[in-house]
Amino acid sequence: MSEPCMKMSKQRVTADDKKIINNDRTVDCNQLVPIKYKWAWNFYLDGCANHWMPQEVSMQRDIEQWKNPDGFTDAERHVIKRTFGFFATAETLVGNNLVLAVYKIIDNPEARQYLLRQAFEEAIHVHAFQYIVQSLSLDEGEMFNMYREVEAIYNKDEYAMSCTDGILDPDLDTRSTEGLQKFIKNLVGFYGITEGIFFYSGFVTMLSFGRQNRLPGTCEQIQYILRDESIHMNFGLQLINAIIDENPQVWTQAFKDEIVEFIRNAVELEHKYAEECLPDGILGLNTDLLKEYIQYIADRRFERLRLPKQYGSDNPFPWMSEIIDLKKEKNFFETRVTEYQTGGALEW
Ligand code: MN
Ligand code: FE
Repeated sequence: MSEPCMKMSKQRVTADDKKIINNDRTVDCNQLVPIKYKWAWNFYLDGCANHWMPQEVSMQRDIEQWKNPDGFTDAERHVIKRTFGFFATAETLVGNNLVLAVYKIIDNPEARQYLLRQAFEEAIHVHAFQYIVQSLSLDEGEMFNMYREVEAIYNKDEYAMSCTDGILDPDLDTRSTEGLQKFIKNLVGFYGITEGIFFYSGFVTMLSFGRQNRLPGTCEQIQYILRDESIHMNFGLQLINAIIDENPQVWTQAFKDEIVEFIRNAVELEHKYAEECLPDGILGLNTDLLKEYIQYIADRRFERLRLPKQYGSDNPFPWMSEIIDLKKEKNFFETRVTEYQTGGALEW
């Protein structure tokens, strides 16, 4: 790969000179303005409008509920711990891939502005799980080692990480079709699969407790994380489409087929995870409904990537789309800013 872009050119930069990737050697990479990719700048503003910190959220009721021996069944405690265990390290994996791989290769300043914001948000998300685990006095060793000790979690993390090695290769050339395809596959693996599919059965499970006013502080944080992740994913999928639009030669039928298979296999891994780690018959959830939901979510990702839908499943949890729906998300930001200023908590 070429050197990470820190190039300062001698000529004035116009918006038209800018590219989303592979600016090195031709265009200055340090000038945010003139902005060409307004969508990337808007994602940055949306992320900032949603700022929050874990320790602002009270865990008092969660601690009382968790300590109460009748507060949760064994099955519920198992599911909750698996969900924390998955997220506790997945957030770090995403952050590391972002900083060590994506940031190095994406050299457009507007996109990098958002990547910097996203990287901080991943740190906040890891912080949230550290704060939750500590507040509930859970076994830190068990929680933070779960990604290598529970097979279904290991398999998911391994799947996303498998497409990091190729792009850390110093010989990767993103100006070649093959090199750029490798990079796009990494973006699909992290934005489309890890943040876009693997996170969602955990979100559904935890937010189901929140709907019953159980673990309210934890679920408030999970809801903030879901808002953030929804922006991460939407930015990532738009970034992928922008790269493809400027480099259409990479989007061959063979490569499209490869991406479809890549996502379909991830859906299978998520089904296995739901079977092994998530509830059957608690909270009105069961593995069949979760599988249907995962397929529904995956179809949305295919659509965004301009690929054919694969499953045609309905959304079994319409209340989730109310939380995620982009328009409501905007409303949420407005509400959130007010709440941020008054220090109020989310109402369930
Ligand atoms: Mn995150
Ligand atoms: Fe994220």
